[in-house]
Amino acid sequence: MTRPPDAVDVSRPDKELWPGISKRAYVDYLLAVADDMVPWLGDRPLTLVRAPDGVGGDRYFQKAAPTYAPPWIRTVRIAAPSARRDVDFVICDHAQTLAWLGNQAAIEFHPAPVRADRLDRPDLFVVDVDPPEGGFEAGVEAVRLVLEVLADVGLRPGLKTTGGKGLHVVVPIERRATTEELRTAAARVTSIVAGRRPDLVTDEFRKDKRGGRVLLDPSRNAPGATLVAPYSPRAREEATVSYPIVPEQLGRISPEEFTVASVPGRLEDPGPVAWRALVGARPQRLPAALIA
Ligand code: ATP
Ligand code: MN
Repeated sequence: MTRPPDAVDVSRPDKELWPGISKRAYVDYLLAVADDMVPWLGDRPLTLVRAPDGVGGDRYFQKAAPTYAPPWIRTVRIAAPSARRDVDFVICDHAQTLAWLGNQAAIEFHPAPVRADRLDRPDLFVVDVDPPEGGFEAGVEAVRLVLEVLADVGLRPGLKTTGGKGLHVVVPIERRATTEELRTAAARVTSIVAGRRPDLVTDEFRKDKRGGRVLLDPSRNAPGATLVAPYSPRAREEATVSYPIVPEQLGRISPEEFTVASVPGRLEDPGPVAWRALVGARPQRLPAALIA
């Protein structure tokens, strides 16, 4: 394996990936957030959303690393039962890997909640908060309840906007619990929260049955699941990104504030600072109360 270069060339630098954002500007964004973003991609199998002609054009999910990837790009081979063949996932563990992927017009980064050396023991516990269309405020209310429930059992999560409609609550955990136990725990959190506010929160996956309520989706807790990475942009015209926040900001921020253009100037805000600490902190133990 060769070492990453000091810089990667940007081909067709003037091509726009979002309105007003050239590929050169996008790669510069990725380099600006790399120190905070790469630790969350780390050793995780990575799924990418690529948009070769920008957000306005065709987009596709890509799991397998391109065969033309340079030798310094790390990959991990994973047996994919559904695909009936092995997939070589990219491992994005370096700023220049991020830049190289950006140059490939990878515009969303979706790591798995597991690390490559132990795929059957997730190290992230995730509550995916999905508000109804145009209902970010309801999502905020639901997140407050989720944070209460997690605090009651001693968990200290990170919080981020998704860059889309909702929010993610993420707890780095010890690699002990099985996927089944994680799902049980997530379903437990959902049912406690829904029990307190049945008018606000549901575990109903089908949109027509949610009745305008917020979905807390336990299915994100699985080896095959993914979660958009902090600082990953989204395939939206506004170039919003998934951005770390702290609970005190709830009700004061709106997800549209955090974009490829604005976030490099907001890396010392409380959210990024809190997430830096979360990366360095000991993984937490999922309390038995949630698994039983
Ligand atoms: P939003 O706040 O708008 O819900 P989100 O990123 O949470 O944004 P979801 O649809 O709730 O989007 O999905 C949660 C996670 O599941 C995503 O972050 C993504 O990693 C993964 N995901 C969703 N849809 C797909 C898909 N079609 N293929 C692969 N992964 C997906
Ligand atoms: Mn979601």
